[in-house]
This record gives sequence, C-alpha cells and structure tokens, in this order.
Amino acid sequence: MEHVDELARYAESVAGCTRCRLAQGRTQVVFGMGNPHADVMFVGEAPGFHEDKQGLPFVGQAGKLLEKLLVGIGMTRSDVYIANVLKCRPPGNRDPQPDEIEACESHLFKQIELIEPTIVATLGNFATKLLSGRPLGITRVHGQEQETTIGGRKVLLYPLYHPAAALYTPAMLRVLESDFARLPELLGRAAEPVPEPSPEPALALVAGAEQLGLF
Ligand code: URA
Repeated sequence: MEHVDELARYAESVAGCTRCRLAQGRTQVVFGMGNPHADVMFVGEAPGFHEDKQGLPFVGQAGKLLEKLLVGIGMTRSDVYIANVLKCRPPGNRDPQPDEIEACESHLFKQIELIEPTIVATLGNFATKLLSGRPLGITRVHGQEQETTIGGRKVLLYPLYHPAAALYTPAMLRVLESDFARLPELLGRAAEPVPEPSPEPALALVAGAEQLGLF
C-alpha cells in the first residue's frame, strides 16, 4: 500500500483511540496535517482549545507564529507536516503526563515512519525529550541538530523552542527565529549524497602509478 494511503488509514484508526484518559475529555483526536511526503516534520506538544475544536494542529496563536516563521524561510504549512506528541487535548492545557506520552508515542512513531521526513523539528521540551531519548531540556539543546534513528530510518532531529513559549518572551522569539533560519541549510545538507569514501593512501598511490604506466 502507498504510504499516503496508509497514513490516511492510520489516521482513521486513531480517530477512535481510547488508549488513555484523554479520550474522555477530547472533542476529537488531532492526528496531524500537511504534506504526507514532507521533508520537514514539526512535532509540538499537544492540542490546545482551538486544535481540539477544529481537529487540526497549531491553529491558535502559536500556529500563527509557526506559519509566519515558515513564510520567513519560503515555505507554507502545506509544504511541511505538523503533528504533536499527544493527539488529544489535556484538560486545561496541562502538561502531558508520562503515561499519556507512553500510550500515544507509537502514533507519532508510525507517522514519522510513513512520512519519511529528512528533518524532524521538535517544538519544545516534550517532543525533544521523547524523540532524542535524552533528558536534556530545550534550553540546552535548541538549534543543535543531531542525527538519530526513528522507525529504523536516519533523520536529522532539530530541536526548537516552542512557538507558544516564544510568543510571550521576546528573547526566546529571537532565538527561535535564528534557529528557524537554519532550516533551509539543514535541508540542503540532508539532501546531499553521502560522499564516497576516498581510497586509502596506499591504494591511491598504486592507482596513480598505474596511470603513469609504471606497472
Ligand atoms: N497547538 C498544537 O497543536 N500543539 C502545541 O504544542 C501547541 C499548540
């Protein structure tokens, strides 16, 4: 089956998810949206009020900022894929709890496996810690790309401040803007073919000697 169809089928199957307590309070599951062939995938934290109502990720103020940042690098929402660690809204927008993340994480891993992005940009602490598998917070690691393997594929993980946090902290917004501005360069880098290993010096010498007709 084509990955695009599989992603759509998977979204349908997740729409009725009852793996955790958040199923009780949600209006609907917010699976994700965007280009199913995207090179860049953004992963936020969890749906908020507006996302829960509309069934789409990042449609509130933080989403507006994300769109503005995308325009700044010549992209739009439809060029990328946007999802969250949790697919259902936590009550009162509280932090995701560890058992909720554990219950939900395989939905995110499956999305990454089917979309096959080259870059996964994590927005904020929850996505960064989950996908890096390390406890280091976003203040320490933002803007530092790292190669990692997700779903058996190598991806470049790129931690960024969460736009919702940057909305209220101008200094954080400036950092987010400058980290964001590196995305095109990272995309170019990820697309470059892996260079052929150069021959060992001794072999190169022999090859050179052959060309000179010495053997
Ligand atoms: N909206 C989302 O969809 N996710 C977040 O993490 C914040 C706002």
